[in-house]
Amino acid sequence: MDRYSLPRSDRSGPNPRSNRPSDTFLRSASAASRGISSNSMEKMLTWRSFLAGLVFLGVAVVLPAQQQTPATAGTPDPKLVEDLVAAYRILAQQGVLDGFGHVSVRHNRAANRFIMSRSLAPELVTAADLIEFDLDGNAVDAKGRSLYSERFIHAEIYRARPDVRAVVHNHAAALIPFSVSSVPLRPMYHMVSFIGKGVPVFDIRNAFGMTDMLVSDSAKGRALAQTLSDNSCVLMRGHGVVVIGPSIPHAVGRSVYLEVNARIQAQAMALGGNVTYLDPQEAQKMMDAGENRGYERPWELWKAKAMGK
Ligand code: MN
Repeated sequence: MDRYSLPRSDRSGPNPRSNRPSDTFLRSASAASRGISSNSMEKMLTWRSFLAGLVFLGVAVVLPAQQQTPATAGTPDPKLVEDLVAAYRILAQQGVLDGFGHVSVRHNRAANRFIMSRSLAPELVTAADLIEFDLDGNAVDAKGRSLYSERFIHAEIYRARPDVRAVVHNHAAALIPFSVSSVPLRPMYHMVSFIGKGVPVFDIRNAFGMTDMLVSDSAKGRALAQTLSDNSCVLMRGHGVVVIGPSIPHAVGRSVYLEVNARIQAQAMALGGNVTYLDPQEAQKMMDAGENRGYERPWELWKAKAMGK
């Protein structure tokens, strides 16, 4: 049925007489398909509108390409989704995250995708809040939801470190003194063998001058990932920390015990005597023995508590 034969009252829109571009294209295309008109003026008009239609078609094809969002890597492993939701809640309950901070996991189906929550306080995160991202920090399907401005921390670490499967960013208060003083954060006890080689400090001022302190684009994320290098965590001067791991339980467990370690170190130093730190060789032996048994035992407990089971 020819849509143009409909009575005027059936046409929708505030101005039924408006000559919509799509109408122009369809009309001219159909006029062109009818063949050569005997009237040369009409022929000229037909060809002119046909060409205009081609231009419109070109625009119509180009626009979606410019607004293209990355394709999804597919449905992630449900266990990964469950653990990521638990991670948000555990880190909040353990006092590592408060209203701010986030945790992400690399997608199990694609190395160039990761999953994290929409911008939301960690303790409120559910599976419905999780969004897939590419390594440029683009959301696959944000559905109009606001995003964490510091998602580039995660994106650039996943790009730089193929071994990393989970990333935590937090502002735990106990860690901040070690990001702003000349006293380095050091391994105090056996639970933090993952910092046996020390903890680098990222100062955003070095490469970017005066900023709002946030790692809110790819360039800043790249610089942070460079400072992280092959370490397990990196302090951020006057801001917080990023902790990585080969699994969600590792990244969460390390985040919990790193915060505890900072408190222990401050307490030990406040006593005023000499402090004996873990030797790098001791730390390495603990890592070789299987870092905290993969955090399996506390993870089980934390997850049960966090999910109300
Ligand atoms: Mn932050």
